[in-house]
Amino acid sequence: MADLRFLMEMIPVPFTGDLAYDEPMSRHTTFRVGGPADLWVRPRGEGFPEFAAALLGTARSRGVPVFILGGGANLVIADRGIRGIVLDTSGWTGWEFGEGTGGDRYVKVRSGTAVDAAAEAAAAAGLSGMEFLAGMPGSAGGAVWMNARCYERSVSDLLTETGILDEALKPLALPFDAADFGYKKSPFQNREILILSAQFTLKPRPPEEIYREMADHRRDRKEKGHYRFPSAGSAFKNNRAFGKPTGKIIDELGLRGFAVGGAAVAPFHGNIIINTGTATAADIRALTEELILRVEAALNITLEPEILFTGDWSC
Ligand SMILES: Cc1cc2nc3c(=O)[nH]c(=O)nc-3n(C[C@H](O)[C@H](O)[C@H](O)COP(=O)(O)OP(=O)(O)OC[C@H]3O[C@@H](n4cnc5c(N)ncnc54)[C@H](O)[C@@H]3O)c2cc1C
Repeated sequence: MADLRFLMEMIPVPFTGDLAYDEPMSRHTTFRVGGPADLWVRPRGEGFPEFAAALLGTARSRGVPVFILGGGANLVIADRGIRGIVLDTSGWTGWEFGEGTGGDRYVKVRSGTAVDAAAEAAAAAGLSGMEFLAGMPGSAGGAVWMNARCYERSVSDLLTETGILDEALKPLALPFDAADFGYKKSPFQNREILILSAQFTLKPRPPEEIYREMADHRRDRKEKGHYRFPSAGSAFKNNRAFGKPTGKIIDELGLRGFAVGGAAVAPFHGNIIINTGTATAADIRALTEELILRVEAALNITLEPEILFTGDWSC
């Protein structure tokens, strides 16, 4: 691996932000697991796009991999950490409201902004559309990448444009095309791009109604135990072909509370894996694999993980 201190010095753009070598990724994931990134970089301020492009270009020219981190809310990062650079987008925040040619309203959100904060901003402006995202952890960039879904709505239902740095490190505005998106699927999952912004269509609605709906979602998540333990939300995708939600399938096999080391199926929800306090990433991975095997053995169906395993899993 190239010398990362030297690589940082080679970047031809001034750096403002936070940076650490051997930074524990457990500090940056909602599961609270993950070993050290060789280099973790969180650029801040207006220079983010320019610095990110220079960092990505320099790393590429030296053969150094770069992992893009949003809110870390859907990740299991290996105990051995991540080789290369983690580019943390959480310093690239903010939004602006606008009006389209047909008079329709929108908000353009920088990718590192927490979706909950963006929903709150839309509510304060009396604009509706993002209510379903209130209380969901993670960033706008991560929500677009994942095509996050809750309360019967997906991010693709309101996305109108995505600003990216493409593979050639060129900034591009990609108009939304429904054909590219599906259940928890976005076109960005197959591309090496950086999402810089997401534009969401919104409609005027009385703020008290927006706030009421957001409060309902936050309360519902709290009552379902979402914030009780470190987790990454649903561990597995749902699949209509299974005939019932994945959580119910796991419940009915009596696997609530089933544990491997410090990782356990939440005692209150079959499709949430929790860190009971001492979990390693290896525990979470072993539990995920064991659940797949047990469901396969009992029902002959294969669960697909929604949580993403990344980093250095070599032994
Ligand atoms: C308590 C809890 C509840 C949850 N509930 C839900 C739910 O109801 N519905 C749901 O869909 N999810 C849910 N999740 C999972 C998580 O919130 C979402 O998947 C979220 O969209 C992840 O966003 P993130 O910014 O944390 O992405 P990360 O976890 O940081 O990254 C996810 C992927 O996106 C990529 N990525 C992130 N940002 C960018 C960017 N700017 N450019 C390019 N690639 C990027 C990363 O490289 C990675 O591959 C929940 C999680 C928790 C902890």
